[in-house]
Amino acid sequence: MKRKSLILVPSLMLLLAPGLSKGSALVAKNEQKGEITFFTQLIYRGKALTEALARASSLEIATLWNESKGTVRYRGRDYRAKFVISQVVDRYHRHPDSGSCAENVVQIEQPAQAGDRSFYAMSGRFGTFYTSDDLGRSSTAAHEYGHGLGLDHDDLDQRNASVPGIMFARGTLVRPEFQWNPLAGAGAPGGSIKPHHRKVRAVDLQKINLDRVNFAGGVGCLGSGILRAVRVAEVVKPEPRMRLELNLHEGYFSPEISEELESEAHDH
Ligand SMILES: [Zn+2]
Repeated sequence: MKRKSLILVPSLMLLLAPGLSKGSALVAKNEQKGEITFFTQLIYRGKALTEALARASSLEIATLWNESKGTVRYRGRDYRAKFVISQVVDRYHRHPDSGSCAENVVQIEQPAQAGDRSFYAMSGRFGTFYTSDDLGRSSTAAHEYGHGLGLDHDDLDQRNASVPGIMFARGTLVRPEFQWNPLAGAGAPGGSIKPHHRKVRAVDLQKINLDRVNFAGGVGCLGSGILRAVRVAEVVKPEPRMRLELNLHEGYFSPEISEELESEAHDH
């Protein structure tokens, strides 16, 4: 009897796991326009959820991922990439999770301890954003969404990079002007990337692996999730980043620096 139950459990997991955890975007391919659109509906939950934090996170994802105006590659052809981000603020868990790859569930929480970092399932549709990560300003939400799209961290020494990429982890060595403290030596306290400087570059878009998508009628799932239509809630339009840039230059030192120094842990 014991042996039987051991066999049953993994097979049940196999049935459930792909639909529950995979995919992070529904992708639509338009051959005539030469365009691929990524659609993600973020369902926000969590004890620290506020309308403002949800909106700031969605806006950051929509803005950064659309900003480079770069292309994605599918089976040898380049397509213009477009990211459509929609959101549901689901404080009372009234929005059922359809299991569709278009729907991603994000918990917004206070960190349980210093050094807790936001994370996202790799090529998945679940994430946690911590309020301590300066949501909406630090590029953290856009970085985490990148993990959902299947992107891993870049190398930790990026002192040759003229623009910090969205997948640079905290702790990455960068040019002085992109550090928490431009005067700090590389790797010294304050001498690593201030995540607010990260951008989605054209080269980052090229890293999205679309070749594994099975398009049916021009629509498919990034990852192996369930392709299921969802009712689109509130679409969050990208915004020009002038305002964000101004905020960024208010000062190089910020309260976040203490958080950065407390932990060398990378998110996820
Ligand atoms: Zn990360």
